[in-house]
Amino acid sequence: MGESLPPSYASVPPPALQPPPVQYAQQVPMQPMLVQMPPMGRHPQSMLCPNCHQQVVTNTKNENGLAMWLAVGGCCVVTGVCCWVPFLIKDLKDVSHTCPSCQYYLGSYKMIK
Ligand SMILES: [Zn+2]
Repeated sequence: MGESLPPSYASVPPPALQPPPVQYAQQVPMQPMLVQMPPMGRHPQSMLCPNCHQQVVTNTKNENGLAMWLAVGGCCVVTGVCCWVPFLIKDLKDVSHTCPSCQYYLGSYKMIK
């Protein structure tokens, strides 16, 4: 009467052995396409903006850079108190240059490269 069908096990083929991922031994280092920028100084300078292609005088902005943090750390060690005087010293700050026209970041002057 009732046909007793044998459980049909789908014959799953054993998983094919995946070849190991190919090791690219020699990866060609990507050459960063950096636009050659003139070395930036501490003061605004005239340059050609690579973004808006205008001759501009850069906007400068003082930033707390590595040199200033080192100075703060040095002050802490020497004086024993957390000395924030270096925060007030402009010469210790990095200066970032941006385009006044399009606000494009043009580079920065760093106390410590
Ligand atoms: Zn610009």
